[in-house]
Amino acid sequence: MKPDFKKYPDGLVPAVVVDNQTQQVLMMAYVNEESFNLCMKTRQTWFWSRSRQELWHKGETSGNTQEIVSMEIDCDEDTLLMKVNPAGPACHTGHTSCFYRTILPEQVKEESTMQDLDELYQLILKRKNNPEKGSYTDYLFTKGLDKILKKVGEEATEVVVAAKNPSDPEFILEVADLAYHVEVLMAQRGITPDQIKKELAGREGKQSITKDRKEIKEW
Ligand code: AMP
Ligand code: ZN
Ligand code: ZN
Ligand code: ZN
Repeated sequence: MKPDFKKYPDGLVPAVVVDNQTQQVLMMAYVNEESFNLCMKTRQTWFWSRSRQELWHKGETSGNTQEIVSMEIDCDEDTLLMKVNPAGPACHTGHTSCFYRTILPEQVKEESTMQDLDELYQLILKRKNNPEKGSYTDYLFTKGLDKILKKVGEEATEVVVAAKNPSDPEFILEVADLAYHVEVLMAQRGITPDQIKKELAGREGKQSITKDRKEIKEW
């Protein structure tokens, strides 16, 4: 079975690309007949770039190719769903998914406020690649691994201490501090939140009883 490429004059059908492991929607792009055939043949994603008007092998320049695990077609054969194993972020901005900005519900926070740990990681990477004098992140990278490790240790201890205290604001602050310093450590080592998510997704439902028992015994 293949899409009905003749349905619309431009001969294009949208393809929704989803991470096979996390089920996160990564991107949407258009497929023409030629790119569809290449997808089938190579088991990697190929699209038709409307802006460049050319065949586009995803990851050609970035290296972030997408291995197709499965492909589905919709009810009226004019949309594809591709489940992939991505070699890296789908978005050319470096975000895991192209959908990293919220329109609705309208943001209560300022644009510059960090949305989540992915966005924070992106900012940390930006500071690592283009050091901003006077920024604390730059200070940590300049000081190097030992300083970052020391901070992670300190912040972990502070989380433990705060957890014993009934004050939620203090606990929240310490968890945020720890998360930030762990992300600096990851960036220093070149490990992305994506890799952590993959590891976590891979664990889901896979904990064997024997392993649980062993861990309980160790406790
Ligand atoms: P890549 O295919 O990842 O090697 O990227 C090559 C070029 O394709 C980039 O410089 C962008 O112009 C464009 N591009 C890459 N990924 C996307 C995407 N997810 N959505 C739109 N354009 C993209
Ligand atoms: Zn339908
Ligand atoms: Zn449809
Ligand atoms: Zn994008």
